Amino acid sequence: MQFKDIPGLEEIKHRLRQTVLENRISHAQLFYGEEGSAALALARAYAQYITCLDRQEGDSCGVCSSCIKSQELIHPDIIFSYPVVKSGAMARDSRSNLQIEKWREIIQENPYIGPAQWYEHLGVENKQGMIYTEESDEIIRKISLKSFESEYKVLILWLPEKMNANAANKLLKSIEEPPDKTVFLLVSIEPEKILPTIMSRCQALKIPKIDHDSLRRFLQERYRLTEDELERAVSWAGGNVRDALQLAEGKKEENEFMELFIRWMRLAWVPDVPGLTTWTDEMASLGREKQKAFLKYTLHILRENLLLNILPSNKKINRMTKQEHEFSKKFSAFISAENMEKLHDLLNKAFDHISGNVYGKLVFMDVSLKIHKLLKK
Ligand SMILES: [Zn+2]
Repeated sequence: MQFKDIPGLEEIKHRLRQTVLENRISHAQLFYGEEGSAALALARAYAQYITCLDRQEGDSCGVCSSCIKSQELIHPDIIFSYPVVKSGAMARDSRSNLQIEKWREIIQENPYIGPAQWYEHLGVENKQGMIYTEESDEIIRKISLKSFESEYKVLILWLPEKMNANAANKLLKSIEEPPDKTVFLLVSIEPEKILPTIMSRCQALKIPKIDHDSLRRFLQERYRLTEDELERAVSWAGGNVRDALQLAEGKKEENEFMELFIRWMRLAWVPDVPGLTTWTDEMASLGREKQKAFLKYTLHILRENLLLNILPSNKKINRMTKQEHEFSKKFSAFISAENMEKLHDLLNKAFDHISGNVYGKLVFMDVSLKIHKLLKK
């Protein structure tokens, strides 16, 4: 992860780079910010900058062997530590590294997560994670080794507030006097819950919210949103990167569904069988959960079309976007109370079939041909 992958925070990024360029990296630092902040992302970018072999003034190079490994989260000198839940396979061994594959998956996709998303990804939602004494021992062991490739060894410890007292006390001495060229980067959401003795040994840096314009640019570069959607996402997120991403992802799916729906209805109307074959192939590749979500979306739009048909002047009750509404102006003429009842049953049955593992391609082709008949009635 490079600094440029993170929206805004230019001043903080500059300060962090300067510590490296001027050779005054503190050996114990605490980045803290509310859930969804860029604290963990910044720790990653900082670690990559520290270990980069061809460091530029504004950022890590992004292409040296060290940067590549850092980006893939496999750099041997960048160690991650994070809370886990002692249950199932981890009941006897609670070292973070046992979950490194899962950690890489989620952090690669979204470095702005909170603990709930992490536990959900671990498959242990509704449980509280911890950093146990075993993990402290492991950290001490790892930092005592010589670094493999870089001048520095960097330990990114996510959520130090989840260390139990024993684990924290064990780490105290290392944080106070780490081996030479070792950097502790603690990343916290609730710094007030960190043991004061740990807290007092770190140089703390508050990671603020992202400013409106930077967040807006960040989303604009990554998602195809309309001006309206963009503005809404940015103001709703209020500087929180995770929330902004979540909203934009949701929008992305909604737009994708709308496009699929409109195409589907046009093909079914004809019916264009070769076109429908391509369309069902596409649907089948989406995976079961998404197929189910799409069926729900279809039901929602059809219901809205029925409302539009029987109460065309009542705009207030309509819950469609501008583009959906545009399509529905003409399409709604074909949705009546009579065929809606049958469409409703048809889509619900399809939903059950998909849930029950019936092959998606067959289900969607069958539904398409039945929709054709119902629309023509
Ligand atoms: Zn590099």
